[in-house]
Amino acid sequence: MSDADDLLNGLDPEQREVATTLRGPVCVIAGAGTGKTRALTHRIAYGTATGVYKPTEVLAVTFTVKAAGEMRERLRTLGAGGVQARTFHSAALRQARYFWPRVYGTEFPQILESKFAFVAEAARQVGVRADQALLRDLSAEVEWAKVSNVRPDDYGAEAVRRQRTVGDIDPGEVGAVLRAYEQVKRDRGRIDMEDILLITAAILADEQAIAAEVRRQYRWFVVDEFQDVNPLQSTLLDLWLGGRDEVCVVGDPRQTIYTFAGASATILGDFTTRRFPDAPRIELVRNYRSTPQIVAAANEVFAGRGPSVTLGVRLQSQNSPGPAVDYRPFADEPAEADAIADRIVALHRQGVPYREMAVLYRINAQSEVYEEALGRLQVPYSLRGGTGFFQRPEVRQAVTLLRGSAHAGEGSGSLADDVRAVLAAMDYSETPPEGRGAVRDRWESLQAIHTMAVDLAQEQPQADLAALVADLDRRADQAHAPSTDGVTLSTFHAAKGLEWDAVFVAGAQEGTLPYVATMDEPAAIEEERRLFYVGITRARRHLMVSWSAARKAGGQARRKPSRFLDRLLPEDVQVSRAPKRKVRLPQPDLDYDEALFERLRAWRKEISQEESKPAFTVFNDATLKAIAAIRPSSGDQLLQVSGVGQSKLEKYGDGVLAIVADS
Ligand code: ATP
Ligand code: MG
Repeated sequence: MSDADDLLNGLDPEQREVATTLRGPVCVIAGAGTGKTRALTHRIAYGTATGVYKPTEVLAVTFTVKAAGEMRERLRTLGAGGVQARTFHSAALRQARYFWPRVYGTEFPQILESKFAFVAEAARQVGVRADQALLRDLSAEVEWAKVSNVRPDDYGAEAVRRQRTVGDIDPGEVGAVLRAYEQVKRDRGRIDMEDILLITAAILADEQAIAAEVRRQYRWFVVDEFQDVNPLQSTLLDLWLGGRDEVCVVGDPRQTIYTFAGASATILGDFTTRRFPDAPRIELVRNYRSTPQIVAAANEVFAGRGPSVTLGVRLQSQNSPGPAVDYRPFADEPAEADAIADRIVALHRQGVPYREMAVLYRINAQSEVYEEALGRLQVPYSLRGGTGFFQRPEVRQAVTLLRGSAHAGEGSGSLADDVRAVLAAMDYSETPPEGRGAVRDRWESLQAIHTMAVDLAQEQPQADLAALVADLDRRADQAHAPSTDGVTLSTFHAAKGLEWDAVFVAGAQEGTLPYVATMDEPAAIEEERRLFYVGITRARRHLMVSWSAARKAGGQARRKPSRFLDRLLPEDVQVSRAPKRKVRLPQPDLDYDEALFERLRAWRKEISQEESKPAFTVFNDATLKAIAAIRPSSGDQLLQVSGVGQSKLEKYGDGVLAIVADS
């Protein structure tokens, strides 16, 4: 027995309760960083060590292959290596493969790696014109319908009821694509990922002998991240249980971030209120990951927003205090990215390894400025769950088209017009497409290129397509430093479950967070709030939350800090809603020393020729004007100017200060 009791050491009282409540249904509502996996794995290990469970009779289910692997590894070190830890898919696939021949007398069908080609064929058949991005969105919609138990015939009505849109296709037509897709798939004798779960469920529901066999094999069930379970997975779990109640689920309602893909947090809510009203409900609230400062911010995100049954738990930090959360407004995105890159370099000098830092943002298209800013300082980084901006297919295609036009010497004299004309061949226009998903992502990429062109034209009025292509090449070059040991660049979605010493939550402005495409739907806004929560709870010690008033350098300062910051911002930041430490960019009519400005420009030209890079990447005009206005006399004063970060100070500080001192 002492071996088993050893397993309980190093657990707090609530975790211990989870680990020792071995029988009957158990519902664990656990906050971020409270040690969910730790409690679950110890429960399984304790159950097997005390002989209550036979290892082979336990099935532990998680959502990602990575998480399942980690769980197996932990179980092995706790002496419970014989336990199955799988994703819903892999558990279902195993059973479906095994029983298929017995039920249908044929070989198990081939599994479709990607729906794409069949969805394309289905769209063609029903006369829906779709490009690659729209096909990706249609594939995602096929998946949503299948995991949500929505059949093609019912799709149109359900889509209207649940306000789902796919591009600008009529819901009835989407339903027709779904129906055609199923037919194409049947004709080719293939099955897709969702079919694996559907087939397993059908076999368990229809074949009593097989259901009994499966239920004899598995008697104890554990599900992690239960807040992300979808109706199809929930049905499968019910069939595995077959009316029994030996199941322990763990979830955090505050981290439900996949409802758009079919996850339903009500399934977690129903677990204790309807399914098993007598099940013990154990809360884990002690946060072992983050400092009290970060935990306080995380709690505030949900302050005053309803009962904990639906909204999860308030966290209590178990760690010693750390630095205050740093909330920082910026004039524009490049300034924000430069400041983050500078801060990363500074933390690195203080001993924080690059791999212990992450920059998190809402959508993939935001990665470009960070790739560029980090690349410029030669900081290694890697993108999680996404491709680098310049590797994305639409960006490559756009650059190829622009290069072609530049070579052909085409151009009207207006760079922005020329770029719009070239990108029009890819169906780009400045008006964003409806909804979110791949179509919107693709548009965001093209929009980013358009913005770069507008920026360039503003900095260099004579710039043409060739200059733009050169500028894009330079950016691609600079951004290219991927490394596995570097800083992580990730969307909030892909950061789920992970943790770093230092986290930068970037782009926390209205329109980006919450994302503009979600803003007319209250439920979608709440999901955005949970995304923000997932983002800030990834941080152990250092957390910086930043936003920028304009998208591009010198643009109009229209954007407001995210509404999710309303309760978080210290008074001074909130009131000014403008750069705190930085000097506001001088307006055109603001007083600056024009002679000094011209000398700074001449100096910049020399530097840009020496380093053979565009002048504005040294300092842009607005920055030079600000310098000419405040006439800094020290490095510290120079740092106060928007557009001057640590790295630029080191590179150009002496030169600039000498010119100012001389004039
Ligand atoms: P998330 O909701 O973000 O997925 P989680 O609840 O799964 O978080 P874990 O990642 O398992 O939390 O744990 C967070 C951190 O706290 C880990 O570094 C883990 O080792 C540590 N931890 C958990 N429980 C304890 C404990 N009782 N004593 C010390 N450290 C602990
Ligand atoms: Mg976790």
